[in-house]
Amino acid sequence: VPQAGVIVVGGGQGGFQVAASLRDEGYTGPVTLVGDEPGLPYQRPPLSKAFLFGKAQQSHIELRPRSFYAARNITVVAPDRVTAIDRAAQCVALASGLSLPYDHLVLATGARARMPALAGSKLHGVLALRSHADAAAILSRLQQARRLVVVGGGFIGLEVAAVARQLGLEVRIIEMADRVLKRAVSAPVADYLAAALILRGVGLDLDTGVTDFTGTEGHIDGVTTTAGEHVPADLVVVGIGVEPHVELARDAGLAVQDGVLVNAYLLTVDPFISAIGDCARYPAVHAATLVRLESVQNAVDQARCVAARLVGRAERYSKLPWFWSDQGDNRLQIAGIAATSDSVVLRGEPTSDKFSVFRFGDDSRLTAVESVNSPADHMAARKLISGRVPVSPEQAADEGLKLAGLAALATL
Ligand SMILES: Cc1cc2nc3c(=O)[nH]c(=O)nc-3n(C[C@H](O)[C@H](O)[C@H](O)COP(=O)(O)OP(=O)(O)OC[C@H]3O[C@@H](n4cnc5c(N)ncnc54)[C@H](O)[C@@H]3O)c2cc1C
Repeated sequence: VPQAGVIVVGGGQGGFQVAASLRDEGYTGPVTLVGDEPGLPYQRPPLSKAFLFGKAQQSHIELRPRSFYAARNITVVAPDRVTAIDRAAQCVALASGLSLPYDHLVLATGARARMPALAGSKLHGVLALRSHADAAAILSRLQQARRLVVVGGGFIGLEVAAVARQLGLEVRIIEMADRVLKRAVSAPVADYLAAALILRGVGLDLDTGVTDFTGTEGHIDGVTTTAGEHVPADLVVVGIGVEPHVELARDAGLAVQDGVLVNAYLLTVDPFISAIGDCARYPAVHAATLVRLESVQNAVDQARCVAARLVGRAERYSKLPWFWSDQGDNRLQIAGIAATSDSVVLRGEPTSDKFSVFRFGDDSRLTAVESVNSPADHMAARKLISGRVPVSPEQAADEGLKLAGLAALATL
């Protein structure tokens, strides 16, 4: 009987990695990657960084050249969309009319940028940033724009603000919370990154929302804030978070709750369907709860876990989450998952532009480390947390103590 093989829905970071890892693992059946964006799988992180300087071409951000897929017998179907899953028949329907059978289906559908339901949000020049197409649209406008308003002080908003400022634009960030990166990092790190942007001339309005976008002849000319101010802008980038693409799973009767729900093996309730990356919510060993993460590491490591399972090496997914963000000259790296209530211990001084924040949970266990321009702390932190090496707040704060030495205990 010919094998139907593995179909991967979504040609992003996770989808690419499932296909590549299946071949690395020696899987010999058909592997088909269906993606609704044109072109080959590419990396998103540069889209809010180097790409906006106008130097990177699409081929520079592609994860692999076309020859890679041919050499590994990976079929890339793009652009095309999976519109429905027939779980009983084990096949998917595509927008083009194709119907493809599968032995196993991997949902790697990612997420879409949220847009506010406000007057004027459809004006030209109001853009979100998720895809290469979005970034290309922002790039073409950045070259003529003088005033940028960034709605939302999250990672993408801050990264875009830093680049635009370097390009000489007037930049204003409007953030509803009382600080930037509120859900993502501790106050000292958020405050440091905000101060760095302000020092470079970026405006930052905290505790402020946007009530509407105003335009002239269909083009953005400003935003009105909850403080009643009209801020002029010829470009607006909205970075207020994402919504996972779950419709396909939901319509197929799979459990969905801000993400496709999967078990510790990244399997849905259907033993022939897995879900990974930005679209999946999984029971995280490192958080003692269900989480849906949005990071390259998460997509890549989950893809590898699924590929290994599909060749008969099933293991619970237990990788330590880590993340990075570049904001101008500053590099933030995060290891682990902190709860907002976790305590905060500084290692080094923010005034030195190099420091880390160690987060400790209620049980005094190290949960996460946020490092600013301190890659050695980050690398040690990954080992300390994943190896569950006991670290005290005093040790964390003691810059004289070599973390690498402590981390070496993890492998003993
Ligand atoms: C601008 C930007 C900057 C980022 N910077 C960083 C960073 O610095 N560090 C970091 O760790 N992470 C960063 N990320 C996050 C990281 O890129 C994502 O976490 C990662 O791409 C998730 O991979 P994924 O495969 O789950 O989803 P995606 O990469 O989003 O891929 C999903 C793909 O599936 C497609 N799709 C959806 N539904 C269907 C369907 N029905 N049929 C066919 N195709 C479908 C989507 O169009 C998309 O192409 C950044 C993200 C963005 C947008």
